Amino acid sequence: MATETARGLLIVFSGPSGCGKGTVVAEILKQRSDTVLSVSVTTRSPRPGEIDGVHYSFISKSQFEQMIGDNALLEYAQYSGNYYGTPRAAVEQQLGAGKNVILEIDVQGALKVMAGCDDYLSVFLAVPSMNELEHRLRGRATEDEVHLQARLQAASFEMAHSDRYQHVIVNDTVADTVKQLNTIIETEKTRRSRNNLS
Ligand code: 5GP
Repeated sequence: MATETARGLLIVFSGPSGCGKGTVVAEILKQRSDTVLSVSVTTRSPRPGEIDGVHYSFISKSQFEQMIGDNALLEYAQYSGNYYGTPRAAVEQQLGAGKNVILEIDVQGALKVMAGCDDYLSVFLAVPSMNELEHRLRGRATEDEVHLQARLQAASFEMAHSDRYQHVIVNDTVADTVKQLNTIIETEKTRRSRNNLS
């Protein structure tokens, strides 16, 4: 049996904007005390209800570029005209403490994480159809038409890369998706290589 705290899982979780990632992650965090979300830094403006330091750390472009220069980001990407990135230190600290860390990041960032390390669990959350996605994005009403079109274009790019992930879940109902994601996490945790049995 392992005597030290087992390192947590690095969970790369992607899916097109509007696919319901945020809702699924919120539910997983409610159910699993062993799992945390990496709080990204971004240069985009907060949406109504978003709290600085909880949903994102909202920073300026120059602060973001400073973090890039300091090598303080595990990955970063430009998405729909803004920068988004994962602060490296917090992720390392949580993994070391045995927590599973979810990176809710876009495909560009996910591919960088996958290229840079081999110890990760990757899950892509897909939508039943692009029509359904457009319907959800319009229903959310958080973007003007130009930004909505940019997000739809990004969504096609993202859906086309779903095969780069170890697991794909089609988000039909939140309850089913959360159940599947829990199963994936548990299965990964019991993999022999993680139990130091060999
Ligand atoms: P939103 O503006 O809707 O919150 O996020 C836009 C996209 O950026 C989503 O696909 C989201 O998953 C992604 N994203 C959020 N944080 C990060 C990050 O730290 N890095 C990368 N590469 N993408 C991120």
